[in-house]
Amino acid sequence: MPFTLSWRTWIALAVVGVVASILAVRISSNLIPAASPVPVVVIDPGHGGPDPGAIGSNGLYEKNINLSIALILATLLRQKQLTVYLTRSGDQAPSPPPFQTLRDLRHRVLLSRRWRATVFVSIHTNSEPTRTVQGPIVYYRSNSDASLSLAANISRELSQLNGRVTLPRPIRQLVLTEAGVPAINVEVGFLTHPLDQSRLVNSTYQTQIAQAISLGILQYFHGDP
Ligand SMILES: [Zn+2]
Repeated sequence: MPFTLSWRTWIALAVVGVVASILAVRISSNLIPAASPVPVVVIDPGHGGPDPGAIGSNGLYEKNINLSIALILATLLRQKQLTVYLTRSGDQAPSPPPFQTLRDLRHRVLLSRRWRATVFVSIHTNSEPTRTVQGPIVYYRSNSDASLSLAANISRELSQLNGRVTLPRPIRQLVLTEAGVPAINVEVGFLTHPLDQSRLVNSTYQTQIAQAISLGILQYFHGDP
C-alpha cells in the first residue's frame, strides 16, 4: 500500500515544521554571544621627552611621575580585560620631532581617535605658587555629563585614599575637548606641596593612586553614577 498522508496530516506537519524552525532560530541565536565590545581606555601620561612639565623643588620632573602612575594603571586595567593604549610608554613626546607643544597635544588626540577610545584619561601632576595646596583633583571635559560621571567615580576613590573630598572640576583643555569621548585629566597631586612631593615618588603611593583611578574607571563602565 503506498504511503499517503491526508491533507490534515500535511497541514499538521507543516505547522510542526514552522514551529520547529522558529525554535531552532531562537536556540541558535541564544548560542551566539551577545555583542560585548571591550572598552578601550586611552591613557595619556602628560609631557615627556623634551617637555618635563612641572619641576619640583628637589628637581623632580612631572613627566616621570605621570608615566610611572600611567604604566601601573595600564597594568591594572589590562588585568581586568580592558583594552588599554598609552600615548607614550617611555620618556618621549608622542609626536614626531621637532617638539612643539600644540602639535604634541594634537597628536595625542589623533592617537586616541585612531585607537577608537571609549574614554580618554590624561595623567598630570599639579603645581601652584603658594606651595600650600595638596591632593589629587580630577578635571573633566566641560559640558560632558559622561566625562563628569567618569571623573566623579575616580574622585570618590581618590578621596578615600587621600582622606579629603575634592569634587571634580570642569575644564576646557585641548586634549579633553577634542578627544570626542568622555575625557578627564587626573592631576595626581601637587609637586609644589612637600607632602605630595614626597608621596608621589613613593612606588606604594603611586600604586594606590593608580588603583583608585582604575576602580573609578571600572565603576564608570559598570554604570555607577
Ligand atoms: Zn602637566
